[in-house]
Formats: sequence, structure tokens, C-alpha cells
Amino acid sequence: MWTEREGLLLRLEDEGARAGYGECAPIPAFGTETVDEAEAACRELGDDVDDERLNAVPRNLGCLRNAIANARMALPHESDEVADQTKAKVPAVESAKRPAYLAVAALLPAGRPALAQVAPKAEIGFRVFKWKVGVADAADELALLDDLCAALPGGAKLRLDANGAWDRRRAERWLERCAERPIEFVEQPIAADHRGAEDLLFGLANDHPTPIALDESLVRDAEVEKWLGLGWPGFFVLKPSLIADMPTVTQQLAKAKARVVFSSALETAVGARAALEAAFDWPGDRHAIGFGVWPLFADRRFDGPGGAPMIRVEDVERMNPEEVWKALG
Ligand code: MG
Repeated sequence: MWTEREGLLLRLEDEGARAGYGECAPIPAFGTETVDEAEAACRELGDDVDDERLNAVPRNLGCLRNAIANARMALPHESDEVADQTKAKVPAVESAKRPAYLAVAALLPAGRPALAQVAPKAEIGFRVFKWKVGVADAADELALLDDLCAALPGGAKLRLDANGAWDRRRAERWLERCAERPIEFVEQPIAADHRGAEDLLFGLANDHPTPIALDESLVRDAEVEKWLGLGWPGFFVLKPSLIADMPTVTQQLAKAKARVVFSSALETAVGARAALEAAFDWPGDRHAIGFGVWPLFADRRFDGPGGAPMIRVEDVERMNPEEVWKALG
């Protein structure tokens, strides 16, 4: 249970008093830096920075580097003046390719309470549902799977997220049950730090028809690159806020024609806006995004758009980092 979401909002201002915003939203339990480490690095940077100093922020502070990259994106770069014409054309082309909206996966509560939520969520238009497993008693959960599948509207799909809770035998039992059921994928059946996790995950992926998704296994840019290099056949659940260099990682994933599910890191609207823009700009096949998280904060001004089975491009454009910054007081 998270009662507080600790992170940093970053504001970069140039000499022309234009401001860019970014959010450092680490999840240390996943293996990112801590907020304290990121904050210490910011204090070390001081009040005046240039490109060289920002580039020198250590690679292991991936979430902070992500925040810096997003804040800089809103500011004109020194090199832009030279390459102005070509650069100006790139965003126009990209935004023209943006879809009008992206489908959102509905987040179901763990255990039996999930069952009562399917019908009302289906009623308002959700067609992809995500259920956390490996939380309650395993036999109860397995028995519930059929009830949940039966409750799904026609054509709908269920994602299961084990958050690394299973061992190989339990994962196999579940995957056997998932075959021939409308399960889109099983997320992180084996913990990222489980002994021999790579072999186990590949073994499960090869032995079962239901795709497997990696989430906790993909904390840093290098890990995405590693699994791509290994030829991972399943889904990549990508939390853009944890990725230091999203343009490069996106390019690598797109080149490999990877199946990517963009997902929230429980950040405020500042980081979420950048993450959602990455999702809208993704050139590959689209899968419902894992942003069914709002309302999340006690102060709604930190939230993104919530409750609907889709997020529209204008919902994203309406997310205003400056307002979130001001809401901090
Ligand atoms: Mg997950």
C-alpha cells in the first residue's frame, strides 16, 4: 500500500524565461535510484546549468535523466538554431501520425472484488481488464479466473499481473489454465531477481501459447536492450518515466517490432504527460495502455484524466505541467 508518492518535479528555465518541466518518479523497489539520490544530484547541479552539466548526470540516475530530458524538450537547444529548419518539421510529421485516442486497460482489484467490477467497467466501454494475481490464496484465484473470464464482454481480454509472485511450477499451472482463455498476456510471472529468471521466463514463453509480459525485468534502458538482444518473444511493459533515454529505447523497440504496453509509474500529470506522448508517438502496434490509475492523488490537480476507457490526444494536451508545479505551492 502506497500512502505517499515521493518524487521530484524539475523546472528548467532558459535565459528567455521559457520554462520546461520534467518529473523524476523513481520506484526504488524496482531497482531505480531513490528520490534522495536524485535530489542530491539536483542540488549538486545548483541553480545554473548548461547542456554539458546536464549530460553529465550519472547514468544510474535514470529517472532523473528522464526528467531532465523532458524538461529540455520544451526549451530551444543551442544546436537548434543551426538545424532549425529540419528539426521544426519532425514534430509536425509525428503529431500527424498520432491516433485520436488510445484505449486504456481497466485496473481490477485483486481477489474476488474484481468480479463485481467487470460489468460496470464494461458498461462504460472498457475492453481490456487487468487483474493482479499472486496476492490471495492460489487455489481461490485460479477458481476465480473462470468466473472472471465468463464475466468479460464479448471480444474483451484479460491481463494477469503476478508481479513476480510465482515460482516455476505455479507459473506453469496458471499458464496451462490460460491457454484457450481470453488472456492477452501474463505479466512478470517470475520475479526479475529470481535465480535463473531469464531462462525460466524464456522457458515459460516457449512452452505456452499465452504471451508473457516483462515489467519489473525492464527497469533500466540497458535491460530493455538486453531482452531485445535476447529476442524476447513476449510483451514489453514500458514505464517511460523509468527510462533515461526514451527516444533511443523507443527506436530500439520499434526496430525490433516489439509488442509494447505503455504503463504508468504512478507519476503526477507532469511525468504522465511525457509518458503519454511517448505512447501516442509509438509507431508500432497499439495495445491498451496501463494508465487506468487516476484518480490517484488526494489533490486532484496532480492527476491525469481518469475513469474513461480511452485517453484522447486532447486530454494529453490539456495536462499542464506548469499548473502542477504551481499546485505544489
Ligand atoms: Mg506489472
